[in-house]
Amino acid sequence: MIDDFAKPLPRRVSVPVRVGNVTVGGDAPIVVQSMTNTDTADADATVAQVAALARAGSELVRITVDRPEAAAQVARIKDRLDRIGIDVPLVGDFHYIGHKLLADYPDCAAALDKYRINPGNVGFKAKRDTQFSQIIDLALKHDKAVRIGVNWGSLDQELLTRLMDENAASDTPVSAAAVMREAIIQSGLLSAERAEALGMGRDRIILSAKVSQVQDLIAVYADLGRRCDYALHLGLTEAGMGTKGIVSSAASMGILLQQGIGDTIRVSLTPEPGGDRTREVQVAQELLQVMGFRAFVPVVAACPGCGRTTSTVFQELASDIQEHIRVSMPVWREQYPGVESLNVAVMGCIVNGPGESKHADIGISLPGTGETPSAPVFIDGEKVATLRGEGIAEDFKQMVLDYIENRYGRGASQATPAKSA
Ligand code: SF4
Repeated sequence: MIDDFAKPLPRRVSVPVRVGNVTVGGDAPIVVQSMTNTDTADADATVAQVAALARAGSELVRITVDRPEAAAQVARIKDRLDRIGIDVPLVGDFHYIGHKLLADYPDCAAALDKYRINPGNVGFKAKRDTQFSQIIDLALKHDKAVRIGVNWGSLDQELLTRLMDENAASDTPVSAAAVMREAIIQSGLLSAERAEALGMGRDRIILSAKVSQVQDLIAVYADLGRRCDYALHLGLTEAGMGTKGIVSSAASMGILLQQGIGDTIRVSLTPEPGGDRTREVQVAQELLQVMGFRAFVPVVAACPGCGRTTSTVFQELASDIQEHIRVSMPVWREQYPGVESLNVAVMGCIVNGPGESKHADIGISLPGTGETPSAPVFIDGEKVATLRGEGIAEDFKQMVLDYIENRYGRGASQATPAKSA
């Protein structure tokens, strides 16, 4: 008997950080976040994309604040979001001139809920410490959290050079890759220590240390997690497009989450030209949901299909239901509390169909090749109906809706809706 084999390790202890109306770290649920790719100076486009990301389920949204024209729009963007009922916390992403933008645009500094600081891009040589201190002072003045976000592509070169030199002089030198990973970690930890020395509490600091290779990310965060109790933001930087970006992000972050590491995640997908930016939110949610950390949307389990399926009916039905759930969720969340934990199964034939369907809240086993053209439907493990004829798909969709209404709707009795066909 295998017991507790696949349970995640207990969540690493971290100091919770309040970011607007969201808590990151401590015992709080792992937070999903995302980033816009609009020009923040274009308030219309940015408001529309932040709203879309928030409606898709992003609990924090980061926007680029790269120049005065962008900083000048931030308070207006926040105000317009408030007016359409979007209260997602906004994070400002600053590089090079963050200290100046935050000082010159106090309404921007006040409107943001968190400032992201990249220690490699704060400034160079003598200016670096001064400009870093200025940003921390402004965060303290406006009572904002910060994310100290190291990125290997913009790593502090002075620190890296020093560690490389020390390694070269060592009797037991390690690989250049190991030194690079150590530099990434130290850059984050030293900057966080400096922020604390300037008066910032641990409950205002989130750390991230992003790299673009799966094994490097796992190694860096496993080490970082052991060496501090700051809340950690996980993300594989430059994950890439399409399936490569999804697989790389899920593989790396899935392993870390299983080890109890990670308080907030972002999946950095490169959208196809004209693609939907909210895909990164969907992927992050699905990662957390399939691993059992959170529930966001009802799950539709579908078999992959094989030579026993003669038509595309079951793929179409699974896809139809999945899509229907996706577009309905913003309303269902309000209307049917708890619906996100629903499990639906759409199976292609009798081999695994009845078994899988019985395990779902509601499931259907469609007829495969040579099978009687009938489709048993199971609700809460019991066969309640057998659908036949051309209207199987529509009938089943209606049964799913009836089930949701009956189980999660106002005045839900928790009784199972039964229907015979
Ligand atoms: S349930 Fe049936 S149709 Fe689906 S993969 Fe298994 S054998 Fe194939």
